[in-house]
Amino acid sequence: QEDVFKKLVSHCKEYGFVFPSSEIYDGLAAVYDYGQMGVELKNNIKKYWWDSMVLLHENIVGIDSAIFMHPTIWKASGHVDAFNDPLIDNRDSKKRYRADVLIEDLLAKMDEKIEKEVEKAAKRFGETFDEEMFRKTNPRVLEHTTKREELHARFAKAMNDTNLEELRQIILDYEIACPISGTKNWTDVRQFNLMFSTEMGSTSDGAMKVYLRPETAQGIFVNFLNVQKTGRMRIPFGIAQIGKAFRNEIVARQFIFRMREFEQMEMQFFVRPGEELKWFAKWKEIRLKWHKALGLGDHKYRYHDHDKLAHYANAATDIEFEMPFGFKEVEGIHSRTNFDLSSHEKYSGKKIQYFDPELNESYTPYVIETSIGVDRMFLSIMAAAYKEEKLENGETRVVLQLPAALAPVKLAVLPLVKKDGLPEKAREIINSLRFDFKCQYDEKDSIGKRYRRQDAIGTPFCITVDHESLNDNMVTIRHRDTMEQQRVPISHLHDIICEQVSM
Ligand code: ATP
Repeated sequence: QEDVFKKLVSHCKEYGFVFPSSEIYDGLAAVYDYGQMGVELKNNIKKYWWDSMVLLHENIVGIDSAIFMHPTIWKASGHVDAFNDPLIDNRDSKKRYRADVLIEDLLAKMDEKIEKEVEKAAKRFGETFDEEMFRKTNPRVLEHTTKREELHARFAKAMNDTNLEELRQIILDYEIACPISGTKNWTDVRQFNLMFSTEMGSTSDGAMKVYLRPETAQGIFVNFLNVQKTGRMRIPFGIAQIGKAFRNEIVARQFIFRMREFEQMEMQFFVRPGEELKWFAKWKEIRLKWHKALGLGDHKYRYHDHDKLAHYANAATDIEFEMPFGFKEVEGIHSRTNFDLSSHEKYSGKKIQYFDPELNESYTPYVIETSIGVDRMFLSIMAAAYKEEKLENGETRVVLQLPAALAPVKLAVLPLVKKDGLPEKAREIINSLRFDFKCQYDEKDSIGKRYRRQDAIGTPFCITVDHESLNDNMVTIRHRDTMEQQRVPISHLHDIICEQVSM
């Protein structure tokens, strides 16, 4: 699996999807640039989300708020006081880690041990293997499981109580070693705020400290009244936004899974107090369906309901996706109560209430949030799409089985040879399709090589123009996943492609 992940990362670079930022200066940790293919895929993901929210729901509208916001907003939201990670340094290696991640890694290792025992036994006993029974009775598995549960309970409590000393004690008790040097010489655990700050303007009393937003949601909350009033919105209604967010993440690893500059697609849905859990359940369902509709495989998704809730939430779940490094969060769905709107009312001194004409009363709306990272979604799609296939002739082909609607290039038009009027015919076809679909023209190298190049960027269709095409106005259309080829009239191409690439 690790190997596949490494290959995926280099594939992303080789084919112009994702580059390390500032690469000629040796890069900048946890910051990435999207290349010529990546930006198309990313834009298509954003459109898929935006349309599903704003186009298909009459009661959801979009906004685009600024990244810079009044600094008091982050006081009101709780980010100045509570948006922290617990950090620990190793004295010998001088490396810095997140204490919670060190412990999570240990838990994962314990899980692995248990699963290995189960796998071994499953192999030995074959069909007669009763897995449930084995887990409950095998002494080695029981021992590992008990140890794991103990650690998990201690860890959960320490996190819940923000008990930094206890976090350190766990690291010492379980003799967790620094992953780089193997030493165990740890410092105290300290809180580290994840927000980036900078200075704005300059006045006689100095510049104002402002933050780069760590989430897009607050831009929606502070515009609640603006949108509700000018859009004459009636509850329940939603406000959607796509935009950059910034977090000074300490554990910057796993490629674009955890970045310091990333993009979020968030929707805040405002409802009557008391109806929030009903809406929470509804959005949970809608969002999972949306993911599954991409066809990457239903079994790759699962919910992870939270026991430990953030200070603003009364229910929360993640939609997790099976990445090459395990099931990981791609989207969070939170019932945020009326925490944000009430808090902004308090800090700003402005009344933020909604008059409900049906109930004939005013109240502070409750909020259900759906929040998904564009980059994580991108990674999940690439991970599911990346396939290495053994072909009948013994060769392997790398193919990106991207959902056709999201593919950066929809079709490639390939003249069989570079002469005899075939390039001109190919150009003619492109000109008739280019306003509806992103097309590519390629005449270099053998047709087989050209197919491989298109497979590698996930182009669903290759159209080959040959000498016959000049007479009969027919071309060969090759389907990426099946490699099936069909002879079709040029005049049918538009409809064939349209049927596959529209959502
Ligand atoms: P994690 O626990 O992985 O740090 P989170 O619970 O802090 O994530 P939220 O604050 O709920 O994440 O943000 C909503 C979504 O934004 C996440 O589901 C994820 O897709 C995305 N996201 C959050 N942090 C990052 C990051 N550093 N890089 C890329 N995407 C991110």
